[in-house]
Amino acid sequence: MNTMATFRFKALEDVLDRRAVHQETPSEKISDYFGKRVFNMTRMREHLSDQALKALNDAMNMGSRIPRALADQVALAMKDWAIANGATHYTHWFQPLTGSTAEKHDSFFTPLDHGMSMERFSGSNLVQQEPDASSFPNGGIRNTFEARGYTAWDPSSPAFIMGKTLCVPTIFIAYTGEALDNKMPLLKSVHAIDNAAVRVCRYFDKNVSKVITTLGWEQEYFLIDSALYNARPDIQFTGRALFGHNPAKGQQLDDHYFGTIPERVHAFMRDFEMESHLLGIPVTTRHNEVAPNQFEAAPIFEEVNLSNDHNLLFMDILEKVARKHNFRVLLHEKPFAGLNGSGKHNNWSLATNTGVNLLAPGKNPKSNLQFLTFFINTIKAIADNADVLRATIATAGNDHRLGANEAPPAIISVFIGSQLTRLLDDLEKSIKAGKMTPDDKTQLKLNIGKIPELLLDNTDRNRTSPFAFTGNKFEFRAVGSNSNCSGPMTGLNAIVAKQLDIFADDIDAAIKKGVKKDEAILKELQKLITASKHIRFEGNGYGEEWVKEAKKRGLSNIKDTPRSLLTLKSDKVKKLYQELDILTERELEARVEIELEKYQMQIQIESRMCGELATNYIMPAALKYQKVLTDNVKGIMEVLPKAAAHKSAKVQIELISEISERVEVIKTSVDKMIEERKNANKIENPENKAAAYCDNVKPYLDIIRYQADKLELIVDDQMWPMPKLREILFTR
Ligand code: ADP
Ligand code: MG
Repeated sequence: MNTMATFRFKALEDVLDRRAVHQETPSEKISDYFGKRVFNMTRMREHLSDQALKALNDAMNMGSRIPRALADQVALAMKDWAIANGATHYTHWFQPLTGSTAEKHDSFFTPLDHGMSMERFSGSNLVQQEPDASSFPNGGIRNTFEARGYTAWDPSSPAFIMGKTLCVPTIFIAYTGEALDNKMPLLKSVHAIDNAAVRVCRYFDKNVSKVITTLGWEQEYFLIDSALYNARPDIQFTGRALFGHNPAKGQQLDDHYFGTIPERVHAFMRDFEMESHLLGIPVTTRHNEVAPNQFEAAPIFEEVNLSNDHNLLFMDILEKVARKHNFRVLLHEKPFAGLNGSGKHNNWSLATNTGVNLLAPGKNPKSNLQFLTFFINTIKAIADNADVLRATIATAGNDHRLGANEAPPAIISVFIGSQLTRLLDDLEKSIKAGKMTPDDKTQLKLNIGKIPELLLDNTDRNRTSPFAFTGNKFEFRAVGSNSNCSGPMTGLNAIVAKQLDIFADDIDAAIKKGVKKDEAILKELQKLITASKHIRFEGNGYGEEWVKEAKKRGLSNIKDTPRSLLTLKSDKVKKLYQELDILTERELEARVEIELEKYQMQIQIESRMCGELATNYIMPAALKYQKVLTDNVKGIMEVLPKAAAHKSAKVQIELISEISERVEVIKTSVDKMIEERKNANKIENPENKAAAYCDNVKPYLDIIRYQADKLELIVDDQMWPMPKLREILFTR
């Protein structure tokens, strides 16, 4: 047996040897320890003066500045609480444009003169830090002479303790004030949609003074044993299997989805849930997903900035806890070709300070008209900006889902269900041109009043839609499992804010002209229904039919990241983000550049890894097996008479040629792929470079894999150097 194959079998043995690490969950109720490691409102009330509490509240709700003296007070309270809970260090926790989170730890401990020391954490430590910014991507925003970047406290997301470190959520900006992170634009988009939505709410209720965005994410992931993970350099380095024939049994029986959760996985889930609860992440559901070894977790929804921080923390927790249980979590969008990919459904809605969910139908015609207003304006925003939304979820990983024949398609459309479709169609027809009579209005109000009943039996759910209305929220399902939700949420907030502003401008203008408010709203909604009809689709989003139909409707269908990102450089998007004060042109361009670079680097790594494994693992294994075959043939030729020998060696000889042919394609393809990489690397322009990687390098990954997977089917199992997909997916 060759050593690589031995390594594979050793890994498999390790898995079978595993004893699940049983972490005892505390005997307390979850509510007893929920949020124990968070410096939340309850803790603040215990530790802060009324004045400091009020200043903090104002900062959280209105974005006002916190005076330095009060920051000192908050810092002191935070430090005392953190030290009492075992923290020794603090860090500003931020979200650089790498997509993940970053932290730089400093000690509370400060040496003093004469061998004395103390624990220190001042208001200025809390409010601002200067991490070594040069190691984070900036897209050309920071010139070297002012290469400084700052992190600044975001009081709207509470500090928490991870391990022995107090983590303070912060934004990350350049010396010039430009955003270098994902949090700052999200916060600005929250502000923009707050302004626009409050304007519109006031047509219905003068008490509304604030509208928040809510996000409830559902996180899908794969879980595999760490021994098998370590024996698969492709999964280690790229997050996905670049090779591997599909197991004989995949997900066709759906038995995983409905099956019980394996005990080892269960122990892992209990453990990560406890960690999440300690950090105040309200995780409530867990279940198996469609593919083998695929799972999902979801919390209760929260305000979007907090919810997104929680998602980032949650991904971190998943990975840490998985390691403790000898598992590895795969957050890649498509770790296994031929099986379902993983997404992160973003359930999105808007809620008022008066406690109303603006995307939930109300109890009377007036609140239902408000619901319809937000509902229809959202659809119109998507209709006008489907390409923008698509661009916010464009990554190398997500390209394997979008645009490959599976959930969800790259064509952004909106699903609302048959009942609401009928209602919108009726509304469109029944709102009369010219002045409306009282009878017309009564009839309309009756129709609108029926919505809650309609929705109760609205059971038709369409799982193939990238953007679906699900009763009291929209669900954006095309977000990648690995993504920071802030990109898509910022984009969605921006396009809806813009649409709500346009709507309010039109209503104000009509009212000025003497049109009654209700009538103005109805007429405007009718226009929006007509103008956004083409984005609504109730059928199968994965079918070929839809691709043709969508094309006829003029909907965009951008299948790859480099092309999709270009949308963000269009004048439309620049103007949108600039007007709403979310991102300047320069900030936006910097982001596109960084995303293009990330894409290109991801494909580069995949391509290198593919070439290496093909050359150093797969070809040698195939050639070794070929030698076994040629020895066999030679032996037959020696012992049997010529005619009989030829007959006996026929199959072996065919296999020998097949191996030679496949090895040849692999070798020449690897050489050509390397050549294409060299060509692409010479390109300076980031757009063209990413496009070259996409068009000229990436296709070789599939060509090489195809041949290697065929070899896997013929080479002696004992000689195969890497764990096979059936082992990775079914051994636990
Ligand atoms: P699915 O059928 O898609 O699996 P679930 O019911 O499991 O849906 O998940 C629904 C998700 O929607 C949960 O994460 C929940 O917190 C979230 N959600 C519910 N209401 C809202 C809302 N008003 N705003 C945002 N998210 C919401
Ligand atoms: Mg969902």
